[in-house]
Amino acid sequence: MIGAVDIGGTKIAVGMIDESGRVCSRLESPTEPDRGYASALDRITAMLRESARKAGCEITGIGIGSTGPIHPMTGEFGNVNFFPAWEGENPVRDLEEQFHVTAAMENDADAAALGEAGWGAGRNKSRLIYVTVGTGIGAGVLLDGRVYRGVRDSHPEIGHHLVDPSGPACVCGFHGCWESLAAGPAMVSWLQSIAPPDYPRLSGLTAKRICELACQGDPLARKAVERETYYLGLGLANLVTLFSPDAIVLGGSVMKSANLFLDGIRNLVQESCKLVPSEHTEISLASLGDDSNLIGAARVWHYRFVSEGGLGAH
Ligand SMILES: [Zn+2]
Repeated sequence: MIGAVDIGGTKIAVGMIDESGRVCSRLESPTEPDRGYASALDRITAMLRESARKAGCEITGIGIGSTGPIHPMTGEFGNVNFFPAWEGENPVRDLEEQFHVTAAMENDADAAALGEAGWGAGRNKSRLIYVTVGTGIGAGVLLDGRVYRGVRDSHPEIGHHLVDPSGPACVCGFHGCWESLAAGPAMVSWLQSIAPPDYPRLSGLTAKRICELACQGDPLARKAVERETYYLGLGLANLVTLFSPDAIVLGGSVMKSANLFLDGIRNLVQESCKLVPSEHTEISLASLGDDSNLIGAARVWHYRFVSEGGLGAH
């Protein structure tokens, strides 16, 4: 049984995942970066032991998916926005020492891509792009079944490719990158910016709420959904033109309302990507559900130590 660890900005999830990708037990804890790396490591270790006990199994390997940037080959954290003080810490080495098993870590979007490719909607798709749309936009690219890595094993930041230079400013330094236009918070801030002062639904607005309001016929929310479909579609059309992949698999919290967007996205891709056989690129929803990152983390171990013959160099 593989111990899986999903490290996010707000929470850390841990679970036992069997050989078919099933979650046999699961625990979570707030990340609380200010308590320091040692505290997080203690909690991860305790949760792994408890989770193995609950599933009645022994841990044979550990896979980690983490919000980035991380160094997949050394197992160290880079300068992660949510926990900059953890830079240089090495959970792969530390967990290997604690549990006396092999461990590996990937960026969480790459982990989720591996999970969907191994056990989910991306099975038998060798050129696969996984895109998660939530508070940000992340993507993992698998080419010929292998994680695409950039220079120095970096993870390309597809959520920050430029879509409209006249768009809003983003933390990455660009104006109008994909994330700034199409992530969940972009839906909220756009609706807030165009709503008249007497619009009754401004407080507590979230992307999820906007989607609900759109389903109830709220005209402003419907406009926000229309705009979201357009910008999501533009970014995806760029990916189809650039990579011409077998499949794009969509996950993340905004995609829980995918029925509002999917037809529009597919139409936009068909109409825009005429130079590649876009009709053969399947655009589908992630099938591993809320635990896709956790299941993907387990898949990281399989990818590093089984699928690739234990070469450790991929
Ligand atoms: Zn950006």
